[in-house]
Amino acid sequence: MWESIGQRAAEIRARIEAAARRAGREPQQVTLIAVTKVLPAEAIRAAYDAGLRHFGENYVQEFERKLPAVADLPGACFHLIGHLQSNKARRAVQAFDVIQTVDSGRLARRLDEAAAVFKPGLRLPVMIEVKLSPEETKSGVPAAELGALVEAVRACPHLELRGLMTMPPFSEDPEDSRPYFRKLRELAEAFGLPELSMGMSQDFEVAIEEGATHVRIGTALFGPREAA
Ligand SMILES: *Cc1c(COP(=O)(O)O)cnc(C)c1O
Repeated sequence: MWESIGQRAAEIRARIEAAARRAGREPQQVTLIAVTKVLPAEAIRAAYDAGLRHFGENYVQEFERKLPAVADLPGACFHLIGHLQSNKARRAVQAFDVIQTVDSGRLARRLDEAAAVFKPGLRLPVMIEVKLSPEETKSGVPAAELGALVEAVRACPHLELRGLMTMPPFSEDPEDSRPYFRKLRELAEAFGLPELSMGMSQDFEVAIEEGATHVRIGTALFGPREAA
């Protein structure tokens, strides 16, 4: 069912490379995250066989069900890219390698406590999700509160704050996302954060032009989720 993943991954990589070169960046500065929400564990394995190593999932519970079927893949890195409730922090830390959606000090502290228990001796990589448009979903910290949250996350000894993540409002025109991506980059620069998770199937090239270090791609790799 996922035979075409190899070819699609190659096409996406070529587009990532072209976008990076246009922006005077090195393609290796951009990590491709295959978004596998809703898809079965076989999709993760097929993407792994096609050479992909980074995977994005939106729901803790859904990924917990798939994890036994993918836990044996060496070098696979699983990113939580969906909203996380504080009461699921312990489970998220056990299941995921990176949490991209920290959006409150309370959640950061829960993750910190869980990381001390379940990832002893290493600092759990995290990103802060920033909400840049008022009409967008409830998740993400407003830009005005980002400074305080950066400070709170940096005060957590078991977390390593790597960067910022955002999701602009959906639009048919990828250029509509550009101001949001630019804003996220400016915020990351202001706080000295090296990583930027931004860009999805329809706007990842614009995101790369604006400095994305992680693009999160589902549909363009696996086809429409409804058909899965
Ligand atoms: C679903 C999802 C993606 C991938 O979206 P596509 O349009 O399928 O590429 C990326 N990021 C987040 C947070 C998502 O929920």
